[in-house]
Amino acid sequence: MIHPALALALVLALALPGVAVANVDPLAQAEMAWPGSPCAGSLDVVHDPLLPADRDGEFKRGTCTVVIRPGLPRERECDAIVHEAGHAAGFDGGGDHYGHAPAGQGIMALDGQGEWPGCHPPPTLADIRADARDEVRSVLPSPRAAWSVTCGPGLRFVCRASRARSSRRYRFVLTMSGNFDFAQLADRRPRRRGK
Ligand SMILES: [Zn+2]
Repeated sequence: MIHPALALALVLALALPGVAVANVDPLAQAEMAWPGSPCAGSLDVVHDPLLPADRDGEFKRGTCTVVIRPGLPRERECDAIVHEAGHAAGFDGGGDHYGHAPAGQGIMALDGQGEWPGCHPPPTLADIRADARDEVRSVLPSPRAAWSVTCGPGLRFVCRASRARSSRRYRFVLTMSGNFDFAQLADRRPRRRGK
């Protein structure tokens, strides 16, 4: 069996692709990426569902407004905001007449595939626990909202679900692909009362 502390280290190193990271602040990342921007501190993000489907964002020239397609995964939205904030900052990477950088060269690349590292932090233990709670809830009998689910404490990769008189326990298991899975643990027999 893997020691829980080692398991955590492995999980953080792998930066589980399936775990949603809660603590991404796109505006703070944009400030960090473009400190000298005329729009620093006054960048405005609006969401527009009418943006073409092949575009995550757009910058309105002459303003400090970036337009973002709603419904993007949080980290991709963060990349899009940092990218558009680069246009707002007047970045010119020489790749095309919009000032993009050549393909493959960072967040301003014209292929739109660039990632800003600050938008992709490794998941924290709290992120992993929140994800674990969602995963456990998804395999519980309905009504799922009636279950109370807790994971942890600390480095213990065990989640407990309880509802009325039922309770179940699940253990966090790392898979070879770097994702995680849950194994249900056998129910503990209720302690017998003394005679
Ligand atoms: Zn662009």
